Amino acid sequence: MKLLSYERADGTWAVGAQAADGVYHVADGSLLDFIRSGNTPQLGDKVAGAPRTRLGLRPPKLFCIGRNYADHASELGNTMPSKPLVFAKYPTCVIEDGDLIRWRADITQQVDWEVELVVVIGKDARDVREDAAYDVVFGYTVANDISARDLQNSEGQWTRAKGMDTFCPLGPVIVTRDAIADPHALDLETWVNGQRMQHANTRLMHFKVPFLIAYLSQTFTLEAGDVILTGTPAGVGSGMKPPRFLADGDEVRVSVQGIGTLTNRCAVQR
Ligand code: MG
Repeated sequence: MKLLSYERADGTWAVGAQAADGVYHVADGSLLDFIRSGNTPQLGDKVAGAPRTRLGLRPPKLFCIGRNYADHASELGNTMPSKPLVFAKYPTCVIEDGDLIRWRADITQQVDWEVELVVVIGKDARDVREDAAYDVVFGYTVANDISARDLQNSEGQWTRAKGMDTFCPLGPVIVTRDAIADPHALDLETWVNGQRMQHANTRLMHFKVPFLIAYLSQTFTLEAGDVILTGTPAGVGSGMKPPRFLADGDEVRVSVQGIGTLTNRCAVQR
């Protein structure tokens, strides 16, 4: 099932499911509350017309994994880490499909794209065993791990480079775990102004989803609605010769097979 939020006629938002013939009601309230409820989504009535939709999920925490595809590590001149390289983004990074990615030209001039498969956690958990890791997965979505390379390369921490407002387009839906037989068999793509920049498959992921969940849960309480960005393959702008970075007005589109596509334009403040 492809879950999202939809706007009702009275202006309130509810949880729905995107089907080929339209949107179906699933539950009242927010998508985060629904994930926290632990309920299995069931299709309700079909929603009349074509309601406005959005992901509508503000994750409590966003865990990110760096250098998790060997070809991406090498394109930036890095070796593969011996254990997952963990960093964070913030709830205020999250934007919807169609929203603007914004930054100030006096802060960064090297803004880059990274398509990533995202794991959505379904229940609070600590010390999850690797062989039980899928039990805590609610589903999967797509992110663009927008990155300011000049800050990433010049500052010891990646907090500013990766954590700026609008630097995490997320969505456009969450596909429930049952609908994806193997998260390590999905094509990933990025397009900038209609030109394909990244094209790979999640089978190339180095540290796989169950290992990442077990590893993260050794040191953090995973909470329902938390997300894990699992890393990006080769094809980022900073790995090109010459490097190519996002500019004002650029359209960047990222997609993961079987989940969906995020399209966002860039807006630079001068
Ligand atoms: Mg990344």
